[in-house]
Amino acid sequence: MKYDFAIIGSGIIGLTLAFKLKQKFNNSKITIFEKEPNSTSHGSGRNSGVLHSGIYYEPGSLRANLCVTGAKELKEYIKSENLWINECGKLLLPTSEYSYSNLENLFNRAKKNGVEINKIKNEEIKRIEPNTNCQFEYGLHVPFTSVADPKEVSKSLIENLRKMNVEINYNFKILKINEQKLFTQNNTVEAGHIFNCAGLFADEIAKNSNLEFRYSFLPFKGKYWKIKNKNFKLNHLVYPIPDLRYPFLGLHSSHNRHGDFYIGPSSTPVFGREQYNGILGDNLKESIGLIFNFSKKIIFNENKLRTLALQELSLLTKRGFFDQIKKMFNNINPDDLELSDQKVGIRSQIFDPQSKNLVNDFVVINQKNATHVLNAISPAWSASFAFADHLMNEASL
Ligand SMILES: Cc1cc2nc3c(=O)[nH]c(=O)nc-3n(C[C@H](O)[C@H](O)[C@H](O)COP(=O)(O)OP(=O)(O)OC[C@H]3O[C@@H](n4cnc5c(N)ncnc54)[C@H](O)[C@@H]3O)c2cc1C
Repeated sequence: MKYDFAIIGSGIIGLTLAFKLKQKFNNSKITIFEKEPNSTSHGSGRNSGVLHSGIYYEPGSLRANLCVTGAKELKEYIKSENLWINECGKLLLPTSEYSYSNLENLFNRAKKNGVEINKIKNEEIKRIEPNTNCQFEYGLHVPFTSVADPKEVSKSLIENLRKMNVEINYNFKILKINEQKLFTQNNTVEAGHIFNCAGLFADEIAKNSNLEFRYSFLPFKGKYWKIKNKNFKLNHLVYPIPDLRYPFLGLHSSHNRHGDFYIGPSSTPVFGREQYNGILGDNLKESIGLIFNFSKKIIFNENKLRTLALQELSLLTKRGFFDQIKKMFNNINPDDLELSDQKVGIRSQIFDPQSKNLVNDFVVINQKNATHVLNAISPAWSASFAFADHLMNEASL
């Protein structure tokens, strides 16, 4: 049987795309191929569940446009399906003179992106969030930002897709695509248009499918520390005012529907695509390549990666981590922190050898009858519904 659309990967990008395709092409035959036994083994089940508002991203970029629109749509979906959401809002605190000097930039950027944001005095921050420690006169407040349960969102989408007769094939690994064919170890499947939404493996599938692109893969692991002290609570998400040159947002608070609080994620180089525990991946050749790649960038300090690596090194010990977070939080002790081996994710980050920078936007590349999603970094989860519309536009559907 030939499908109208085939999607590789059932993370949030694959699921929302199938949802939007089916809404637009009601009679189409859609199939999703997923190599794992479920849809939440990787990024879409391991993230902070934050519906980002879109304040951080360069105005006009895909991340800005798709996040601002997509997060509103995701919020509507969550509410219409009666899923868990905590509309807590976000506080952004300066953690150094440099960070404070970025407050105005971030404020203006948020305004340009059309997101509601307010400057807020440190006394007011202390009043509404007693466990914070704002050392400068002002911080920022973003009312839109919320937290949801990423696994529950995927589960709901899967149930709806099944009702819409979309096939989801688990334990089905795609090796490459060619023209309108998808290849597994033993099978070939045909589809009118193929979408490669394979997250951490999207670039590998694209390369195996003869797509020419200049980017290299450079994954970063994000680890979280759990706050064991049950008396420590926050009413808002609390983030630092970040260095806007990097795609990472800095260590921040994160909480879930069970009332567990975490601080993270780190941004540690990792030498395997799905290496959640340990450092080296299953593919030794690729691990060696990644070690070489990271070392070169660190030695030459490309995109200030040496500076970033040194900062990250200091976070590897509990003491170093604590010294960093006490710039934002009060009433917390090193003994309250426990490194979580459950809550850890890997960013599917790519590097541009031409500009020598970590790519700071989503990247979508078209081939004949195929569309590849190459840099679905944060906030792709928040942006996913609008991302799906964008993919359909790119594929001229
Ligand atoms: C630590 C961390 C925290 C984050 N926090 C947030 C946040 O709070 N808010 C936010 O908006 N974003 C956040 N993000 C980003 C967000 O999680 C990702 O951008 C998003 O989940 C990407 O979705 P995806 O569908 O592209 O990838 P994935 O969820 O990785 O899905 C890709 C799927 O493809 C499958 N696959 C791979 N290869 C093959 C193959 N060969 N054949 C078949 N299937 C294959 C994989 O098994 C996987 O299920 C965070 C990311 C990290 C790492």
